[in-house]
Amino acid sequence: MKTFYYCALAVVALSLASAGGCSRNPVTGKMQLDLISLDQEVAMGDQAAPEFEAEFDDKVNNPVLQAYVREIGAKLAAVSHRREITYRYALLRSKTPNAFALPGGRIYVTAGLMTRMTNERQLAAVLGHETIHVAAEHNVQGLQKQMGVEMLASLAGKVIGGTAGEVAEVGTKIAGSMAVLSYGREDELEADSYGVRYMTKAGYNPYGMVELLAVLQSLSDAEEPGRIGAMMQSHPLTSERIEEAKETIDDLPGEHSPRAADPRAAAFLGMRTLLRRELGW
Ligand SMILES: [Zn+2]
Repeated sequence: MKTFYYCALAVVALSLASAGGCSRNPVTGKMQLDLISLDQEVAMGDQAAPEFEAEFDDKVNNPVLQAYVREIGAKLAAVSHRREITYRYALLRSKTPNAFALPGGRIYVTAGLMTRMTNERQLAAVLGHETIHVAAEHNVQGLQKQMGVEMLASLAGKVIGGTAGEVAEVGTKIAGSMAVLSYGREDELEADSYGVRYMTKAGYNPYGMVELLAVLQSLSDAEEPGRIGAMMQSHPLTSERIEEAKETIDDLPGEHSPRAADPRAAAFLGMRTLLRRELGW
């Protein structure tokens, strides 16, 4: 209720009632200030994508590997709360272990992260986590906080119907901001817990999320600072995320065992070998 009043007041103060307003978050049901339309969100992501991808060494140039990542992503997109989004999943060449979601539904995992995993449910977990950042609009809300609402509203206004120069400027600004955007504690825990629900609905053993978080933890223990991507530098600590994910799994209907082998592990390992060969690692 408090959030609703904050929203209403903020909309009046900004006189942006026609451009946006208060909406209910499709995943959590909480009220939030929402200044940009779906079309603007998609256009901003589309404009930012080429620069953003270049920043992480571009897409892996192998249609079999891209189709594999897309196929897992499609299962998660199919259970999303925000079906009006066209989710697009891709694998990037960067060696730094990381994963990202741009506004509008482009979701990426790096080769550096995929090669550290051992089965498909871990990959489904990371794609589920990033799908929540789009479905729950964490990235748009995060940009709103990072850039300020006026700046983001102004960029959103230019991205559709602006001059070519203005549209390009929007792409550069969004790509730069997304590359350094770090989500808050609450967003990360939400992405883990709803990500667990999405992957379970998509047919995966939810313990894939716990396994993924253990991979992230071993990386942050082992790697030199600066070599690890934003997904691993998050607050809260990974150990806390692991405990929270286990609690979410305990509350899920059905029986889930951390000891059950992933029936898709062999398919995953085949793809991992292909990826290493493709990149010459
Ligand atoms: Zn995240």
